Amino acid sequence: MSTEASAAILTTRNPATGEVVGEHPITDEAAVHETVARARQAASWWAGQDPRQRRSALLRWKRELVNGSMELAAVVRAETGKPTGGALFEIMLAVEHLDWAARRAPRVLRRRKVSSGVLAMNHLGLLEYVPLGVIGVIGPWNYPVYTPLGSISYALAAGNAVVFKPSEYTPGVARWLAEAWSRACPEPVLQVVIGDGATGAALTRSEVDKIAFTGSAATARKVMAACAERLTPLVIEGGGKDALIVAADADIEAAAGAAVFGALGNAGQTCAGVERVYAVTEVYDRFLDAVKEKTAAIRSGADDAAAYGPMTMPGQVEVVRRHVTEALADGAVAAVGGPDSIRPPFVDPIVLTGVPEESAAMREETFGPVLVVNKVRDVDEAVQRANESRYGLAAAIFTRDKQHGLALARRLRTGATSVNSVLGFAAIPALPFGGVGDSGFGRIHGADGLREFSRAKAVTWQRHRAALDIMRFDPAPRAVATALKLFRLRHGRGR
Ligand code: NDP
Repeated sequence: MSTEASAAILTTRNPATGEVVGEHPITDEAAVHETVARARQAASWWAGQDPRQRRSALLRWKRELVNGSMELAAVVRAETGKPTGGALFEIMLAVEHLDWAARRAPRVLRRRKVSSGVLAMNHLGLLEYVPLGVIGVIGPWNYPVYTPLGSISYALAAGNAVVFKPSEYTPGVARWLAEAWSRACPEPVLQVVIGDGATGAALTRSEVDKIAFTGSAATARKVMAACAERLTPLVIEGGGKDALIVAADADIEAAAGAAVFGALGNAGQTCAGVERVYAVTEVYDRFLDAVKEKTAAIRSGADDAAAYGPMTMPGQVEVVRRHVTEALADGAVAAVGGPDSIRPPFVDPIVLTGVPEESAAMREETFGPVLVVNKVRDVDEAVQRANESRYGLAAAIFTRDKQHGLALARRLRTGATSVNSVLGFAAIPALPFGGVGDSGFGRIHGADGLREFSRAKAVTWQRHRAALDIMRFDPAPRAVATALKLFRLRHGRGR
């Protein structure tokens, strides 16, 4: 185990070495409620700030993250085992999103005029997006900075206070982020509650105005059931079983490189990582050879020179083992590695081919450094198989034909699709991120992400009395007749 909860203390261990890296007091249910009550007060202070003041505070927090990035990366490395380069990369991505959210929120959410339409020409129509209040953010351990900040940055920028419950594997990262906040802003607009699932469950039952949950579909179902009790709205960023499609005209070297990086990066512990490849018959052999060649140079390990580190959560190793052994029993062939590649806490690269679609490795999220490469007749079959998953987070397509690639992207039942890259969308803050089906609903990132943490508020201002005043109990008969005539003229003929 890399965490132990005892006598109200959570002890975290480095998953690669087993050494203790931190001890954190657990927030019990009563303390969760007190934290949310404190957040409520902070939320009203924060919402009352001028949007430019909020932007300044967020940018000060950003600078804390940038100037402390080596220290933060060390905490990420200690708690997850990932190499320093990987930790720094996720901090860079997170900072890019924070910067975008801070700078764009005032413009995206500001009050604006809308067209009043024909019936209400005498009114001014105003639309604005107001903060919800307190957002409970529940995060996973795999990208303990980038993933929760995808919700936290946008929720704060939209004028809300946040209570963040990190994974029990990464409380130190969360506390570092909250301490950095307190240096940037004296008010407890961002607070952290620590513990295991019970602390998360307490947060879902508390007086928060919305929950932003990132994690597995199984936990998402429990969170949704808890939220139903108080009708607390919810955004779910769930897992994935992302497919990469290789068309006959693809750049095979580029496709293989991207598939290997997308599947093995972060030890495969990436929600939108590549888990399945569908390569068309014409290029299948060439693609597989290129994958084998690129995988040969990749090594897992505890040192910083390793391409990726250990499996952070011990239980996930058994999921990987089950998927690999069942696939082989179902008739798959191991093109790279196999069951012997699993040497906990490390898993060396595994590439399987010819895996039947009903095998667990094709249906369930593996969340480990395992890549399945299956042959398909054509891209239509690839799209069909990709869409058969109950997940729908992201996908990738490799083709040299731009129009064809974009048309295929639209047909994929996912929240995001990258053409000629993997994870291209993750680094573009203006693009919304979120899934379909078991991958969740709602969106973080981009303008949609800001609005996810806001309430659309409609206001009208009656400028003068209506020329045709029919919204009353005693309208003039002439006004009714004219309104009816106009109504028929406007809607009763033509296209
Ligand atoms: P889990 O679903 O196990 O846990 C997610 C969070 O929920 C953790 O903080 C966990 O706490 C907490 N939790 C557990 N039980 C409850 C409960 N009953 N009520 C409220 N909260 C609870 O996921 P993992 O942490 O293992 O993360 C991996 C999963 O996250 C994968 O499926 C991955 O695909 C997905 N993910 C999705 C992303 C996306 O943006 N779509 C991004 C990154 C990951 P604790 O850990 O302390 O038990």
